[in-house]
Amino acid sequence: MALLLLIEDDLNIRSALTRALTQRGHAVASEPDGMRGLQKVLDEPPDLVVLDLGLPDLDGIQLLRMLRPVSSVPVIVATARDDDTMTVAALDAGADDYIVKPFSAEQLDARIRAVLRRTSSPSGGTGHRLEVGDLVIDLRARTAVLAGILLDLRPREFDLLAYLAARPGEVVTKRNLLVEVWQSPYGGADKTVDVHLSWLRRKLGETAAEPRLLHTVRGVGVKLMPSGTADGELASPEPEMEQADAVPNAGPDPVADPAADPAPDRE
Ligand code: CA
Repeated sequence: MALLLLIEDDLNIRSALTRALTQRGHAVASEPDGMRGLQKVLDEPPDLVVLDLGLPDLDGIQLLRMLRPVSSVPVIVATARDDDTMTVAALDAGADDYIVKPFSAEQLDARIRAVLRRTSSPSGGTGHRLEVGDLVIDLRARTAVLAGILLDLRPREFDLLAYLAARPGEVVTKRNLLVEVWQSPYGGADKTVDVHLSWLRRKLGETAAEPRLLHTVRGVGVKLMPSGTADGELASPEPEMEQADAVPNAGPDPVADPAADPAPDRE
């Protein structure tokens, strides 16, 4: 099941596909022209777009060129049989696959599933659901639930959290966040990222000094991972790694033997 957006001006095709794909278990939205389609992708991001190349206001290739800088949503273009040049141009403009009209709903559904398999995130969960520790994010509903409690996030905070949750344990630089989350390829102020991270941290109920999910790696960036996994076991605030490296195995390791007497008699 996926949330699909059909951008198709032919009413007959639109309603036939909506019906057929709904029967196959998808949620289907549709728009009759390019501008409304584009707007819809941004307002209610679908899992996949089926895009007719011949639209009344702008052609599918123009739409793709406008879409790609701001969205990586998978797109299958529906093309007429004699549209070879258009099809190639659409693939070059960022389409993920194409299907030649007329086609059966069955064939389209198979292509949709194939594209979603290829493009869905390898890291977290299936389709539009990401899980990191007790944080669960639904990308389609744009909700984030932490330990069973729905977080009240502003759109940018949600985008930021979702971006990090899709890459658990990976250190992401602020520059990268500006480009990917703020869509600001020429950079911007790192301060913007800092401010949003601190808002997000507050909503996650943690502090930079005692991170649970959102870990700052000083001078590098930030990563999302549950405490207690890998190096998250360090109880102290994070960027102590240089010191930890400098004195390997110094002193008793409190987690090595939980039953050991806490008295420091091993030295
Ligand atoms: Ca058309």
